Amino acid sequence: MPQKTKETPMMEQYLEYKKQYPDAFLLYRVGDFYEMFYDDAVKGSQILELTLTSRNKKADEGIPMCGVPHHAIEGYIDTLVDKGYKVAVCDQLENPADAQGKMVKRGVTRVVTPGTIMDKSSQAKDNNYITAITSNRNGFGLAYADLSTGEVKVTSVDNELDLTNELQNLDTKETVVYGKFPQKYLDRLRKIGILISKIDELEENYSFDFSNITSENEVSTVKLLISYLIKTQMRSLDHLKAAQSYETSSYLLMDHSAQSNLELFKNIRTNKKSGTLLWLLDETKTAMGSRLLKQWLARPLISVDKLKQRQQLVQVFLDNYFQRSSFQDYLTKVYDLERLAGRVAYGTVNGRDLIQLKTSLEQVPEIKSILLDIGDDNLSAYVEQIDEVADIRDLIDKAIVEEPPISVTDGGLIKEGYNDQLDQYLDASKNGKQWLATLKAKEQESTGINNLKIGYNKVFGYYIEVSRGNIDKVPEDRYTRKQTLVNAERYITPELKEKENLILEAEEKSKSLEYHLFDQIRSKVKKQIRRIQALANILSRLDVLQSFAVVSEDYHYVAPEFVSGHQLEIKDGRHPVVEKVLSNNSYIPNDVFFDQETNILLITGPNMSGKSTYMRQLALIVIMAQIGCFVPATSAKLPIFDHIFTRIGAADDLISGDSTFMVEMREANDALKHATENSLIIFDEIGRGTATYDGMALAQAIIEYIDKNVKAMTMFSTHYHELTELESQLPGVKNVHVDASEENGDLVFLHKVLPGPADKSYGIHVAKLAGLPDEVLTSASKILSGLEGNSVHTTLSESIHEPAAQIQAQPSVTPVEDETQLSLFPEEKPVKKESKKENQVIKE
Ligand code: ADP
Repeated sequence: MPQKTKETPMMEQYLEYKKQYPDAFLLYRVGDFYEMFYDDAVKGSQILELTLTSRNKKADEGIPMCGVPHHAIEGYIDTLVDKGYKVAVCDQLENPADAQGKMVKRGVTRVVTPGTIMDKSSQAKDNNYITAITSNRNGFGLAYADLSTGEVKVTSVDNELDLTNELQNLDTKETVVYGKFPQKYLDRLRKIGILISKIDELEENYSFDFSNITSENEVSTVKLLISYLIKTQMRSLDHLKAAQSYETSSYLLMDHSAQSNLELFKNIRTNKKSGTLLWLLDETKTAMGSRLLKQWLARPLISVDKLKQRQQLVQVFLDNYFQRSSFQDYLTKVYDLERLAGRVAYGTVNGRDLIQLKTSLEQVPEIKSILLDIGDDNLSAYVEQIDEVADIRDLIDKAIVEEPPISVTDGGLIKEGYNDQLDQYLDASKNGKQWLATLKAKEQESTGINNLKIGYNKVFGYYIEVSRGNIDKVPEDRYTRKQTLVNAERYITPELKEKENLILEAEEKSKSLEYHLFDQIRSKVKKQIRRIQALANILSRLDVLQSFAVVSEDYHYVAPEFVSGHQLEIKDGRHPVVEKVLSNNSYIPNDVFFDQETNILLITGPNMSGKSTYMRQLALIVIMAQIGCFVPATSAKLPIFDHIFTRIGAADDLISGDSTFMVEMREANDALKHATENSLIIFDEIGRGTATYDGMALAQAIIEYIDKNVKAMTMFSTHYHELTELESQLPGVKNVHVDASEENGDLVFLHKVLPGPADKSYGIHVAKLAGLPDEVLTSASKILSGLEGNSVHTTLSESIHEPAAQIQAQPSVTPVEDETQLSLFPEEKPVKKESKKENQVIKE
């Protein structure tokens, strides 16, 4: 830091502000530039690729400095914030000319942070969540808000794991903590890439609706969040909706690794949306709908009633194709009402935004009448609630021109007929323009200069322009020369100047009156923000439901039935994303069946046969069902799950080594500890990260534990063939396998899931198909039978101390002749498609 004595007054002022925002880049307005100094300049110049200079005032020599032109500031702020930095903007609060030699007054007018950045059009389909966390004796409070849409929610969680999961699932850009929040948690949150902002003082003076929050801890958490928003935004936050409490347990829980393993939002390989469940399901027509769909996917429901309501409306959209497509046409013309409401509250709304608002509102009566026309009672009851916000639509229609300019201070915004005074001014300036046109014609005639022009610039006002070739015709007595150009001369006349005053005065007055009127309209709209938000809410729900109908129709999904008790039955289930990506209907459907007794489906089969796809398919079907969408199957009877746990080796953590195995064990532990009999567990080759016997022993112990204690529905794929013997020892374990076969000497994956364990020697079989030398194959077969001869057969861990109870292996299963005849459903022949029985709810 520089020595105090050396600084100029301006640098003193700068340091004063910098002290208040130590963790932000301070962009300090000097003339036409925003400057950074000292460390900000060094770091900022690198990040923003700016030239680093030093301040050249003698006293400030050696102070590193870099700057950006004031008009380009937004782009630079975006870049910094995108990279996870905060930016404080320090503006000149008075015209430097008025400062009369004193220091220009400055002040920080906004602080932009990753959690509070607004209006990034590139992220229209994503929420941008800022969170606040507090700790208390019972755990943690967690509040979140999206500043652009006004949504505010709060919850309590009782342990650090749930806190971290919730923060990661929200994909929070920034987390606010207060004063003495325990450092050890902060360190761990920072480690997983969460940006922490600390504040030490809470704001007191603001009004906010806390009425829906029940616990004191949650109220304090929301207060912390609001305080931070006030501190950074420094403007109205009227659009923030009343905070809603929620409980994580009222949704189907998925921890962060499950969400990412199942590729709900991000493709693991590309990190993009393409190839995800969200990508598949998103046929929404509005950005609001798209954001809501994402929220639904992140928090599937556990209430059968609510799910049935959603399903019923999806069915209505499916049954009424024509109304649905015309509803879609109107929806397409609805802009992002939630974010428009946010801009209205912020006072950053311009004429074009209001026209977007009007255009959106204009669609609503049509939308209402189309949907009511369908004549479905439930849908109608819902649609009846729609408030068209017609007063605001009419106000904008009466007041704002159809194609307003971006600027709100330069006039051209307000329609004729809206305000008498304005009409008079506009008239005066219009008459003036008419007068100018007449003058031009008159002068052309009297001088004989046909190309004589009348123009305007800021320096001279109105002028007459004569091209060089006609200069000799200029009446020197009446024209006064003002400016010489290469090809022309410009003149003024007393008559022109007199009229100019009138025209300009009218223009000046009309501009300021227009701004005033615009501001009034803006305030009127602002008072109705809640109604606009409520409309946005209904439209986005309907948008998501029509989107479900579209995908359900396009891909032939069926409405799942929700059943009670421990049972599940999916016929011809498909993995929705793999199915879509595979060309020409080549996806092989598979059944899934859990009866009262079954806890674990043990899945064997060669690599690449489809084990992992089969397991993910079930998880995705469950999630789709629990957001109210239809599912890829010919029929599905599902219980309501409370939690999905996964352990699926992701491509990028197969690097091997201890850490992968550790992650694997941690995820397994999570499932064993927290799963209930209503949970779904997906374990893909648990135990393969360590030595064979070690891994097999762990896998077996885990299976036993689940069967005995947890009783969650579990899909467990393994290449430890020995584990298939557990079926005969544990009542809850059932073997299925995915087979491959040979066709014309090529290895063909049938992708069909069949009862029983896989053929033991499939490895050698595959090796043969791959063309390995006969000698190797024969020798492998010998080794295999040798191993089988003296193998340690799978024994239940409990019976290990009782050698007599050792159970012999089952004879190996004979390869199936006609696989298509086999069904996973016991005592049931393949079912005919139209069978009524399929649609009945299984009774307990
Ligand atoms: P495993 O887990 O047995 O190694 P995967 O589940 O990763 O195998 O499947 C390997 C590939 O097989 C997948 O990428 C997919 O393209 C294809 N596949 C899997 N299941 C099916 C199916 N039911 N129908 C068609 N193709 C499938």
